Amino acid sequence: MVVHILWGDVLFRIAIDGPAGSGKSTIASRLADRLNIDYVDSGSIYRAITRAIIDNRINYKNIAELTSFIQNLNIEFDSSSISVNGVDFSAKIRVASVNSLVSEVAAISVVRKKVNNILGLIAEKQNVIMDGRDIGTVIIPDAELKIFLNASVEERARRRFFELNNGEDLSYEDVLANIIHRDNIDSSREDSPLTKAADAIEIDTTKLTIDDIIRQIMERISSKNYAL
Ligand code: C5P
Repeated sequence: MVVHILWGDVLFRIAIDGPAGSGKSTIASRLADRLNIDYVDSGSIYRAITRAIIDNRINYKNIAELTSFIQNLNIEFDSSSISVNGVDFSAKIRVASVNSLVSEVAAISVVRKKVNNILGLIAEKQNVIMDGRDIGTVIIPDAELKIFLNASVEERARRRFFELNNGEDLSYEDVLANIIHRDNIDSSREDSPLTKAADAIEIDTTKLTIDDIIRQIMERISSKNYAL
């Protein structure tokens, strides 16, 4: 199916939310290529902040210390890389130390505020596909299309386990435990918890291929008359 988005003056923003391993980033980047729209991986920003906290031994539980630290972080990214204060962080944000801490850091409101400012500036002015936990509920509540991806926790852990190639020697059980840990914190935090927006389309990806999911979303885009 060939789809041409009708741009004009109208913004076209797709919000994709869901838990770790549900397929968000794979689907979002494939859709972005297909539709020729920028892709923003909001989780990578939380990861970069977390890595900067670890590297600089910041006591993130001390809100004054954390606030002044993150005020001075200049985060820049494109669809394939992310840098903090001019240093490329792309290769060091998907490691076990970041996986273990990122959800605790992302639950802190000053951190969310920093990330929300960055994301909000993008979402208000351009077509974008953004993925995360609160894109359809908080960052782009008026997104033209909202998708909520889910899958069984075992399948999500299996996918993450097979993606690992970082020599950290993690077992499937380690990966599963980390996903359960992050699911719990992400879903129960007070500030913008992971939740499906009322108007989001939910897709259970447990037994679907990537092509199946892309097809479902593209059909949805066509049926909404966003496309020719
Ligand atoms: O998407 P990814 O798994 O890389 O995100 C890492 C973590 O960042 C999540 O577990 C969550 O704690 C946090 N996050 C968030 N809100 C977003 C995106 C990510 O809280 N919009």
